[in-house]
Amino acid sequence: MTTEITEIDTLVVGAGQAGIAMSEHLTKQGIAHLVLEKSRIAEAWRTGRWDSLVANGPAWHDRFPGLAFPGRDPDSFVPKDEIAHYFEAYAEKFAAPVRTGVEVKSVVRNVGRPGFTVETTIGVFNAQQVVAATGPFQKPVIPPIAPQNERIHQIHSAQYFNPQQLPQGAVLVVGAGSSGVQIADELQRAGRQVYLSVGPHDRPPRAYRNRDFCWWLGVLGLWDAPASAPGKEHVTIAVSGARGGHTVDFRALARQGITLVGLTKDFSAGQVTFQPDLRDNIRRGDENYLSLLDAADQYIKANGLNLPEEPEARSFLPDPECMIDPLLSLDLNEAGITAIIWATGYAVDYSWLNVNAFDERGRPQHQRGVSSEPGIYFLGLPWLSRRGSTFIWGVWHDAKHIADHIATQRKYSQYKDASER
Ligand SMILES: Cc1cc2nc3c(=O)[nH]c(=O)nc-3n(C[C@H](O)[C@H](O)[C@H](O)COP(=O)(O)OP(=O)(O)OC[C@H]3O[C@@H](n4cnc5c(N)ncnc54)[C@H](O)[C@@H]3O)c2cc1C
Repeated sequence: MTTEITEIDTLVVGAGQAGIAMSEHLTKQGIAHLVLEKSRIAEAWRTGRWDSLVANGPAWHDRFPGLAFPGRDPDSFVPKDEIAHYFEAYAEKFAAPVRTGVEVKSVVRNVGRPGFTVETTIGVFNAQQVVAATGPFQKPVIPPIAPQNERIHQIHSAQYFNPQQLPQGAVLVVGAGSSGVQIADELQRAGRQVYLSVGPHDRPPRAYRNRDFCWWLGVLGLWDAPASAPGKEHVTIAVSGARGGHTVDFRALARQGITLVGLTKDFSAGQVTFQPDLRDNIRRGDENYLSLLDAADQYIKANGLNLPEEPEARSFLPDPECMIDPLLSLDLNEAGITAIIWATGYAVDYSWLNVNAFDERGRPQHQRGVSSEPGIYFLGLPWLSRRGSTFIWGVWHDAKHIADHIATQRKYSQYKDASER
C-alpha cells in the first residue's frame, strides 16, 4: 500500500496570531499554503490563560493593522476571549486556509529532492517551505526546586484559571512578571493570604503624561530594540491591563496585604527559603520605571509636545515592612500554604521539527526567522527580530518579512536560463 502524499508549497504549523499573520502575508504574495492547527484558532488565548485575563496593551495597540476590535473603546483592554474571536474573525476576513484539529508530528528534509516530508494526524504532506508558528510559550516551565510534597497543590500559571480552583488556604506565587503579579493580586482580592516571590523585573508605568506605555515604547523605539540589553535577557516585564489598567506597584501590593519575598531559593523539610534580594529587585524595577519617565520627559521636550506634567508619578509609597525586613524562610505548614503557583515562564518544544535548524544547545538558529535550514522558518519567538516579536502587532511585521523571503526564494528556484525558457 502506498501512502498518499499531498503537495503544498508552504505549510504553516500553528494557528495562533503568528500563523494567522503568516497566512495573510502568504495570501497577499499569492503563495499557495495551508495552516495546520492541532486545536482551534488562537487556542492559547482560549484555554491557556486565566479567566479574567485582559490584554496588557490597549485595544488600539494590541491588534493587527488590518482590523480594529469592533465596538471597542480604543483605550480599553480587551478580554482574552474577545482576542480569540478577533483572530477567528481575522482569519475569516481573508478566508485563511486553516485546518484545525490537525497535529504536525514530524518534519524531515527530503533526500535527493527539494522540500520536506511532513507527517500529520491526517496524513503526509510534501512542502517546499515550513513555517513553525507554534508559539513562544509552549511548555510551561516549573523549576527543579519545586517541592515533592503532595499535600501542596502546585500548578503553573498556564493552568491557573480562577481563585475557586485552589484549595482553601494561603498561596505562594513564584514569579512576579505580568502573570505572577496579576494572579497574586486576583487571589489577594479574593480573600487569600498571598506570598509573592519577586525576582528581577522591568516595571514600566501603565501610562505617563496622558500616554500609555505602549505608546512610549513605540515613539522611543524600544519595541524595535533588536536584542535585550546584556544581563537583561531573562528580565520579565510586569504590566497589567486588569481593572482598566494600572502601573504594577509592588509597594501598593504589599499595602493591600500581599507579603513580598525575594527569589525562591529552595524547599527543604517543610521550609521554603528566599534570596535576600527583594529590596534590590524592587529598586532595580524602580530604576527601570524612572528611566522611562526620564526618556518620556526628554522626548516631550525635544519635540515640543503639549502633554500635561505629572510630577506625582515620581513619588513612591514608603517601603513596606516586608521589604525593609524581608522573610528569608517560611514554614509552609505554619503559614498555611496549600498551593503554589509557578509563574516561571515557558520553553519551546520543537521535537517534531527534525531538521538542521538548531544550535548545539537545541535553540532555533535563525536570522529574523529565516533558519539555517533553507525552507524552514520560525515565527513568534521572543526577540525574533525585535522586542515586539512575541506581541500581537510585532508578529505581523515579522510574518511579512518571512513571506517576502519565501517569495524571493521562489523567484530564484523558478528561474530558467535561456536554454530552458
Ligand atoms: C499570560 C500571557 C498574556 C499575554 N498577553 C499579551 C498581550 O496582552 N498582548 C500581546 O501582544 N501579547 C501577549 N502575550 C504574548 C503573545 O501574544 C501570546 O503568547 C500569543 O498567544 C502568541 O501567539 P503565537 O501565535 O505565536 O503562539 P500561540 O498562540 O501559542 O499559537 C501557537 C499554536 O500552535 C499550535 N500548535 C503547537 N504545536 C503544534 C503542532 N505540532 N501541530 C499543529 N499545531 C500546533 C497550538 O495549538 C497553538 O494554537 C501574552 C502571553 C501570555 C503567556
